[in-house]
This record gives sequence, C-alpha cells and structure tokens, in this order.
Amino acid sequence: MGKNVEKLKAYLGRPNDLLYAAAVLNWDQEVYMPLEGVEARSEQLATLNSLAHQMLTSDELKGLLEAAEEEVKDTAYDSDEASLVRITRRGFDQRTKIPTEFVEEESRVSTQAFVAWREARKNKSYAGYQPHLEKVIDLNIRRADYLGYEEHPYDALLDLFEPGMKTTQVEALFSDLKTGLKPLVREIADKDSIDDTFFSKDAYNTERQWDFTMLLLRDIGYDFNRGRQDKAPHPFTINFSTKDVRVTTRLLPHRPQSAVFSTIHEGGHALYELGIPEKFERTPLAQGASLGMHESQSRLWENQVARSKAFWKYYYPIFRAFYPEQLADIDLDHFYRAINKVQPDFIRVEADEVTYNMHIFVRFELEKDLLTGVLAVKDVPEAWNTKYQEYLGIIPPDDGVGCLQDVHWSHGTLGYFPTYTIGNIISAQLYAQARQDIPDVEDLFAQGEFAPLLTWLRKRVHSHGAKFTSAELVERELGQKIQAQPLLDYMREKYTEIYDL
Ligand code: ZN
Repeated sequence: MGKNVEKLKAYLGRPNDLLYAAAVLNWDQEVYMPLEGVEARSEQLATLNSLAHQMLTSDELKGLLEAAEEEVKDTAYDSDEASLVRITRRGFDQRTKIPTEFVEEESRVSTQAFVAWREARKNKSYAGYQPHLEKVIDLNIRRADYLGYEEHPYDALLDLFEPGMKTTQVEALFSDLKTGLKPLVREIADKDSIDDTFFSKDAYNTERQWDFTMLLLRDIGYDFNRGRQDKAPHPFTINFSTKDVRVTTRLLPHRPQSAVFSTIHEGGHALYELGIPEKFERTPLAQGASLGMHESQSRLWENQVARSKAFWKYYYPIFRAFYPEQLADIDLDHFYRAINKVQPDFIRVEADEVTYNMHIFVRFELEKDLLTGVLAVKDVPEAWNTKYQEYLGIIPPDDGVGCLQDVHWSHGTLGYFPTYTIGNIISAQLYAQARQDIPDVEDLFAQGEFAPLLTWLRKRVHSHGAKFTSAELVERELGQKIQAQPLLDYMREKYTEIYDL
C-alpha cells in the first residue's frame, strides 16, 4: 500500500470509530434503554454523528483523498487500494454536496414527521400526516438537486442506497418481474387456499421460540463470540466491527413463524457483515456493497434456504418436539405448504415471497410520481388504494393498513424501497449459481448442514466488502447482468409443486 493511501486509511479510522460508537448507542436505544433516556440519548447521538460528519467532510480529508487518488491512478480498479480511494471519494462527494443547514433542517423535519406518522397510523387518519409528508417530499426534491442527476431526480436518491443503479434500470427489471408474476399470482388465486390456522389458533410458548431461533442461528454459522441476539419489536441487524455483529428478533405467541423467519433474515444480514475481511476494518469498505446486495443475503437465507422443503425435513421434527400439542396433526408437507402460503394482503412486511414484490412496485411508482410532482401529496391515499387494487386486487380498509404502514417516509427517506426487490432478484441469481456449484446443497440442508453454502457466499460476495457496486459484483462473480428471470424461474418451480399448478 502506498504511503498516501496508508495515510488516508489511518485518517478514516477515527470517524469510523465515532460512527460505530453511535451505532452502539442506537442499538442500546432500540433494545434496552429505559423510556426516559431518550432525550439525553438524542443529544449524544447528535454529537457523535456531527463530529464524524465534520471529519468526513474536512479539508484535511479532501487533501488526503486527492493525494491518494494521484497515487492509485495506475492501480487496478479491483485492488483494495483503488477501491478504498474510490469508495471514500463517493462518500465524501455525497456528504459535501449537501449543505449543513439542509442536514439540520432534515433532522428537524423527520423528527416531527415521525411523531406525526405514529399518531396518524394509530388513528388511521392521513390528514394530520399530510403536511409533514409534504415537507419530506420537498426536502427530497432539494436533496436530489444538491446531489445532481442526469435523467431522473429519483436517480440521485436511489444512488444513496444502490450506488450506480439508475431509475430506468429499476423500471426495466420491475417490468420483467411484473410480467412474470401477474400470471403466477392469478394461477395461485384459482387454487384452494392453504390452511395455516394452526399457527394463530394456539399460543406458542415464546421461550421455546427463543431457544429454537438460537439453535437456528448457531446452525447456519452465526458465531456467538462475534455477536448476540436480543429482542426488538422491529427486528434489525447492526454491526460495530467485523467481529461484533448483532441481531434481534421478535417473539409473538400466535405467530411463531415470525420469530423463525425474522431470525434467519437478520442472521443472513449478519453473516454478510461477519464475512467481511478484517483488513477493511475501520474503513468504508467494511460494509455491504449496497442495500440491495445486503437484502440478497438476508432473503437468500430466509426464502431459498429456510422456506425450502429440504430445510424443514431436518428442522420440522425438532420444531414439532418444541410444540407437540399444537402441531400434533400437522405433518411436514402441511407445515411446508403453510409457511409458503401465497395470499394478497395489505401489509408489506407480512407478505409472502410471491406477492411481496407487488408491494414494492406500488411504493416505487408513487415515490417517482411524488418527486416529479405528477402526484400531489394530498392524493397519496387514493393513488395508493388504486395501485393495491391493480397489483393485488384488494383495497385497504383504512390508511393505517394502507399508505401509513411504513416508517421510511417519516424518516425522511425516499429511494429505499426498490432495494428490497433488487435484493430478491439478486438472491435468486446467486442461489441458481450456488446450486450449480454445490449440486447437493439441498441434501445438505436436509442434514442441517450449511457450511458449504456459507463458504460459497463468503468467497463470492462477503469477501469483497463494499469494493464493488451490486451490478459490478454480479457481473464479476456470475458473469451476468442483474436480471429478473432467475427469480421468476425459482418461484415458478417452487409454487408449481406447492399449488399443483
Ligand atoms: Zn433485511
């Protein structure tokens, strides 16, 4: 490593320490902090974040970055050195394009919007939230202008979560997916519904749910010397270094499958972070390639692995032994069909893997129209309901389970939603290749054996950290563009068997 890159790397350590320290405070706030700690905690977080921001936008960093750029100008694009410089530049440009006053205004607007959203959702009433959402949309229009874009203002926002991806690319991907999904959803709707009432009918002891999720985490390769699991109402994964990556889950007596799939989902995110090489520690390379690539890891473990028949061949006898009374009459086949039941519903986070992407199409289309002014904020509930009718054939009974269900907009965020579906798409591309490279991968699941799959993911995805964009990584490792067909093939094969299509 050249001496200027070395200096740059040394400089980046301290702001990264501040951000990780802030992450610890965030984790504590979500998991353990008593109610009245909130005020002091916001001050502490604001201080740490603003110190990190100062260091990451400083003239000193600018100088170090320019010197390092000069030093690596003939170094290979995929080298650690050139990648460190490139990714640092991307973050520096994004941060310095946004004025400090804007950041402060955004923080105020989103704090108020969040409070208004929580109230509005509780009362199922959009009216009180509308003026706040207007401010959020206005902020995002301005944010896109500060960041700059060539074709569509949405490009600027999307780029924050999915570097390099353009709105037109997402539109093309989603259009392919839509075309394939619509007939599948219709064919499934013509079949008899699967009975999954055995979940909601009985209470499933939550301590046993906890024990089962801990067993799953251990088996998939999550290292408890480098992480821990706790409980949180909205499960998440958070990392403080490559050797301390924590997950959370939620335990609901009448939805034991929620704990199982939350844990596996967050476990998939955590395995990604834990697989990032130690050499990237305290630099911007010590993270996932993008939100979409991150979601590809959580979804691959959640759907392709933990919703497979092979997986439950091994785990159903164990799970059933935890709940012998509740599951007395439910055989493996019935259980497998129940956890894969497809049913259009209002709530995104509870959607099955087939209809899930429909929820994303709705949000992506609305966000674009809000940003360009095609859709007025006051008309969001009506537009939302029209799209639910179009994509899922259902109309939400109220805005609480309609346009008020997600937290993202009230955090001031637009451009995030597409990354969920991009993650689903990439997960299927990766899994198709993994099945070719490890032909007995599903026989191994049926023996509770996941190490070969994890090793494969470590090599193909995790070992690169944030060096490449998702498109670069998929091209490099799979020799493909990001494309919807493998996801459609996977679903077609799986649901043909489940629903006898
Ligand atoms: Zn996720």
